[in-house]
Amino acid sequence: MNSKPSSLSGSPSAAAAFLAGRCCEQMLRPFWEAVETGLLESGSLGGFLAGGRGYELHRFTLRGPSDGNSVVRLGIFATIHGDEPQGAQALIELARLARRHPDLFRGYELHLYPLCNPTGYEDSTRHSRRGEDLNRHFWRGSSEPEVALLEQEIASRRFHGIIALHADDTSDGVYGFVRGATISQELLAPALDAASARLPVNREPVIDGFRAQGGIIVEGYDGILSAGPSGPRPFEVVFETPAHAALDLQVQATVLAMEAILRRYRAMLSVANDI
Ligand SMILES: [Zn+2]
Repeated sequence: MNSKPSSLSGSPSAAAAFLAGRCCEQMLRPFWEAVETGLLESGSLGGFLAGGRGYELHRFTLRGPSDGNSVVRLGIFATIHGDEPQGAQALIELARLARRHPDLFRGYELHLYPLCNPTGYEDSTRHSRRGEDLNRHFWRGSSEPEVALLEQEIASRRFHGIIALHADDTSDGVYGFVRGATISQELLAPALDAASARLPVNREPVIDGFRAQGGIIVEGYDGILSAGPSGPRPFEVVFETPAHAALDLQVQATVLAMEAILRRYRAMLSVANDI
């Protein structure tokens, strides 16, 4: 989640925008296919205009089998930086796991947001087309439409946990940030451990300018996509893959990390329920 400006450029030509629009559709296609087969449910957070074109932010919901207790709602957000597509791919792979391993999702309701910055994704830039790093605008009264839509969604869903997926081109390994509930750290540790089956953990003492231990950073930037200032305090994890690693390894590492979080959080809840 480094703040280095990426290949930010001016407005793309109409032809480029048209082609790029198709690339957004292409990225979401497997999600729509999963909706058609009943694996996912779709919803809209609302739309906005950018450069004369309409965009929409989508939610895809995966409902795991019931475990007889109340449902645990997690929100997993990808591509708030438009040039980090591995998160969206990991989300569809995670959803597909529900066919083969439904028990992994027992008791969970996962709300997946594969494309939080569609104009940045179209332009292959970290920033939105308005030139903003959206991941510095949250809960600051921002007028960026993507941020307003996501804030509204986060406030109304009252998630038990929020996970943001990122890639960092300055890191050679996986690592993450934690905030929110103190259990966040106990969730990120096994996630990094699981991901290390595909990509090494970044064990540097300083990562992205922050003190780190075992790939875990407990500080962080202000204004990132996170739980709002009011309401219950969910666990919050930011999971980062090394952006220069092969895309399929980043995807696999992210899926393994998400699986580990689902398993560990369920184990924590069952212990808590026994107390
Ligand atoms: Zn990022």
